Amino acid sequence: KIGRRMRGLTFAGRVLLGGSALAVGAAHALSGSRLAHAQPPAAAMRMSAANPLLDRSFFPRFADVRAEHVAPALDAALAEASARLDSLEAEVEVEIAAGRTPSYALLADGIELLEECYAGPWRTVSHLKATKDCEALRDAHAAAQPKVVEFDSRLGQSRALYRGWERLQADGAAWAALTPAQQRVAELQILGAQLKGIALDGERKARFNEIEQELAALSTRFSNNLLDSVKSFSLRLDKAEQVAGLPPSARAMLATSARTKGDADASAEKGPWLVTLDQPSLMAVLRFAEDRALRETVYRAYITRASELASNVPPAERAAQDNGPLIDRVLALRAERAALLGRASHAEVSVASKMATVDGARALLEQLLERSLGAARAEHVALCDFAGVELRQWDIALHAEKLKTANFQFDEEAVRQYLPLEAVLNGLFALVERLFGVAIAQVEPEAVGAQVWDASVRLLEVKRDGEPAAYIFVDPYARGGEKRGGAWMSQVRQRSRALSVDGGRTPCLPVAHIVTNQAPPTVDADGREVPSLMSFTECRTLFHETGHALQHVLTQVDEGHVSGIAGVEWDAVEQPSQWMENWLDQPAPLRGLARH
Ligand SMILES: [Zn+2]
Repeated sequence: KIGRRMRGLTFAGRVLLGGSALAVGAAHALSGSRLAHAQPPAAAMRMSAANPLLDRSFFPRFADVRAEHVAPALDAALAEASARLDSLEAEVEVEIAAGRTPSYALLADGIELLEECYAGPWRTVSHLKATKDCEALRDAHAAAQPKVVEFDSRLGQSRALYRGWERLQADGAAWAALTPAQQRVAELQILGAQLKGIALDGERKARFNEIEQELAALSTRFSNNLLDSVKSFSLRLDKAEQVAGLPPSARAMLATSARTKGDADASAEKGPWLVTLDQPSLMAVLRFAEDRALRETVYRAYITRASELASNVPPAERAAQDNGPLIDRVLALRAERAALLGRASHAEVSVASKMATVDGARALLEQLLERSLGAARAEHVALCDFAGVELRQWDIALHAEKLKTANFQFDEEAVRQYLPLEAVLNGLFALVERLFGVAIAQVEPEAVGAQVWDASVRLLEVKRDGEPAAYIFVDPYARGGEKRGGAWMSQVRQRSRALSVDGGRTPCLPVAHIVTNQAPPTVDADGREVPSLMSFTECRTLFHETGHALQHVLTQVDEGHVSGIAGVEWDAVEQPSQWMENWLDQPAPLRGLARH
């Protein structure tokens, strides 16, 4: 999975900051620009020292950011972006009025520079909300989001910029002088504006912008409800028979969880054990717990999260957390937005910027159904025969695990002890070095002027020909209650010529996040830390997200709007991640990462 983009429809939102590996201040980054209008207002400059979100050093100051920084930072950042947009539009209008074609640099670099003002701070806020959520940050995010969405719409609907791009595309000589990457930027800007409602006027435009606001707010509420629902469930077990079947690694994980919630003496052997809906905890119970009632309780709590049936919250509180009505509302708004854009459905809007077609996607689903349904039914019958009982949903993972062990002598839990995180990372680095000719190593964040938002986060440095070429943050462990579930890669910085800090000699370097929710380290009976032992599935997830991160950071493209994962069709973007996963099925890479 890849993190949601800032400007979902325009492609242009993944914006980055100037800077080499060493911290470079905002004044340098911006005064180095060739663009006369690229001077930040004095107010923003004064605040940047005090407000970490306005500090334009190469690495965001993740550890320093507090909720109270969000509102003043975004207000200043959006004011600056707005002033830049005003002067950029004026410059483009002057060119057009004089019968000249606005240059690519004027348009592309101007847009990248103004986007960088607010998209950088906003990405940091969104990232912290996804990995370090708390009430105060949530409120600050909710208060700032409408302003960000409003500016996104204004930028996407800029008639002056749109005319500028159209003019450039229509000017044969100017167009032919562009590189393919630059032509792609122009095409994406034009398409992005169309999908942002550039053709709309008056009431229809106002309604479109209202819909954009409401959809953004609904999306935030949806994930807040989900996180709250996960947070409101935990089950403290204190009898050994309740954890019967759970392997030692899972008991250690649940005991560590109990320790962090106040049971200072919790141990893997004697308990108590705390079950949560975090992925590693959930899967341990569903796959191994012999206690059927326990599996049912946990399964029901998970499957009814944030719904009107939520079994883990009192009935009186269900309505507030229920995502059902939100889904209906999102679907209605998407359909209305599609109609405003003159498209037949939201699906048509969605594929407008993808490789797939609606018919192609439907045909693929039909084909998958046809090919897999028979096999799935046969497997289910075989599983029922093997289990000897009628299987309910909370029985399937347990018996599938047993069947797998019986048929293939494969025990994923036994495999974990060969896959400690450090060994897996080292094997992964070796593979990447062999495949791509770059060197990857963990570095101390402080050594390169970086900060992390949690002590467990690692920073990787990618070197090409001995020189730093990119950085990747890795946030590996589940942290229930403050970190979203699942796994994703998102961008911190984009490789970009326009945001170069040395007059274009070297581009700004790319930086990526890899976030997963794997089993955290545990503590043994003697109080010693046992490293995170990965399942093969967790390795696959890490490889997958690494594939995304590599596409982002190994790019050689210098146009920020299409470098790395920017501008790649959102369905095609899954290809490098799938390829990376496939290496895990090869004996040599696997041997490279297994240790004991
Ligand atoms: Zn993916």
